[in-house]
Amino acid sequence: MTRKNLFEILLVQMFVIFVAIAPTQAAKKIRVVTSLPDLADIAKQIGGDKVDVFAIAKGYQDPHFVDAKPSYMIKLKKADLFVQVGLDLEIGWVPPLLEGARNKKILWGGDGFVDASKNMDLLQVPRGDPSKLRAKGDIHIFGNPHYWLDPLNGKIIAQNIFEGLIKIAPENEIYFKQNLEAFIRKINDAHQHWQALMAPYRGTEIYAYHNSWPYFEQRFGFKIAGFIEPKPGISPSPKYIAKVINEMKNKNIKIIIIEPYYPPKSAELVAKNTGAVLVELAPEVGGQPGVDDYFKLFDTNINKLIEAFKEVGVEPKPFSN
Ligand SMILES: [Zn+2]
Repeated sequence: MTRKNLFEILLVQMFVIFVAIAPTQAAKKIRVVTSLPDLADIAKQIGGDKVDVFAIAKGYQDPHFVDAKPSYMIKLKKADLFVQVGLDLEIGWVPPLLEGARNKKILWGGDGFVDASKNMDLLQVPRGDPSKLRAKGDIHIFGNPHYWLDPLNGKIIAQNIFEGLIKIAPENEIYFKQNLEAFIRKINDAHQHWQALMAPYRGTEIYAYHNSWPYFEQRFGFKIAGFIEPKPGISPSPKYIAKVINEMKNKNIKIIIIEPYYPPKSAELVAKNTGAVLVELAPEVGGQPGVDDYFKLFDTNINKLIEAFKEVGVEPKPFSN
């Protein structure tokens, strides 16, 4: 074998290796970081096998208060896309994480920054100066931020994530679009099924611990008559609890829904004094066992509510529009 031949063989081998490596590099996944697991699940459904998704908060954590750990900054430093709920939900932890990550791409206004609340029809937008509301301890100062709890809002979230993805990976637009359309169809089908399940219980009054549920309530037609918290983020005083007990007794309300991350003591006290049942729902994906995705979030919460309605003897009404 001549030196020239050997050189040619080496060249061919190098070419073969290059060709073998190239597709792996081309298929490098888009790194998506989201504040909440619900956004992460929707990002997975739209991004499919082109994305690698990480959610900072866990579904059993209060989304208003999450520890801004340095390990999350490292995740954000390497991220191509960041998705947040917005309004003031993550105001205490997302800004310090984004500042610490120093990744220009995913800062406000960057191509890789997605605010999932864009084009959202918000409920309970307060009048008046937000800073004054904040000073009083209110944590919903720009409107109620728990909008992902209406499954139809999931379609708006998906659209916003889709727009973010095509900005940073326009070559995959057709693929993302197909996934978006499939997600919308799946939501529409599931929504019809959920509506049929909840229809017999329209108008049933319940109580809630925190004001997480107005979007869920509006979509499915039951009624939240009041809250164990006097204001979002404020723990009840004994005097306020006495008032709640009175009102629940007067209205014969027998169900209290609560998120897994609130101390149950005051709600248990109310339940004991009114004969109500305390129902723990999943406020986010991962918030209850088996709630592994955005669809199971509604499956589980609706099933748990219907079980509770039956347990306290709510009479199902015949369905009418
Ligand atoms: Zn809240």
